[in-house]
Amino acid sequence: ELDVTEYQKSLAIRVSGFDVPRPIKIFEDSGFSLQLMSAITKQGYEKPTPIQCQALPIVLSGRDIIGIAKTGSGKTAAFVLPMIVHIMDQPELEKEEGPIGVICAPTRELAHQIYLESKKFAKSHGIRVCAVYGGMSKLDQFKELKAGCEIVVATPGRLIDMLKIKALTMLRATYLVLDEADRMFDLGFEPQIRSVVGQVRPDRQTLLFSATMPRKIEKLAREILTDPVRVTVGEVGM
Ligand code: ADP
Ligand code: MG
Repeated sequence: ELDVTEYQKSLAIRVSGFDVPRPIKIFEDSGFSLQLMSAITKQGYEKPTPIQCQALPIVLSGRDIIGIAKTGSGKTAAFVLPMIVHIMDQPELEKEEGPIGVICAPTRELAHQIYLESKKFAKSHGIRVCAVYGGMSKLDQFKELKAGCEIVVATPGRLIDMLKIKALTMLRATYLVLDEADRMFDLGFEPQIRSVVGQVRPDRQTLLFSATMPRKIEKLAREILTDPVRVTVGEVGM
């Protein structure tokens, strides 16, 4: 245990919550499939970043997480890689429809980056990713969603529009990511976030990532996450 504490300290990782899974040192410690490992290598990722070292084992164990680390620290892969594992673990994948993984991000640009990153890891597993944000006509978006997907990357407003017109159902959604939660709050998306969360089954796994953690987001996190592990890397503003 002492060396775990030392290792966390060396990576500037702080954790709180009960039974926190120990951080990994190399991607191989995650038990990823060969396919996923080769996709990681193809990305040029040699070893996990500090947030990935601690977040990957937490999320892979099925726990909810509050992940706080600055921009550029590799938070996307910290939720995308376990999402691929989560999706591949679903029994009878074909039985229902609608996304299994739902990712909300504050802007079209950020959502698009996550969309591209998700596709890189989803492709080799036959997992379909749908982008749900402005820039595409609502009719085209509707058609694309109707064609089916396992992952949706969305801005909250457009996702709610698509839910309203029943372009997708959340029946299968069990893995919900709120990325850049601080920016979503700053942009006034709290009601939309609450609406989306309210439409995803309560037995979901919920992940919240942010570069800063102001009080109001901490409060929201406590409301919508279940026994989360909180991970902070480096010095983070409030
Ligand atoms: P954040 O969401 O924390 O701002 P990103 O997930 O966008 O950070 O990652 C920032 C950059 O680091 C991206 O270009 C990404 O491809 C790269 N990256 C992520 N994880 C690793 C890794 N383990 N090794 C090398 N580069 C990585
Ligand atoms: Mg990010």
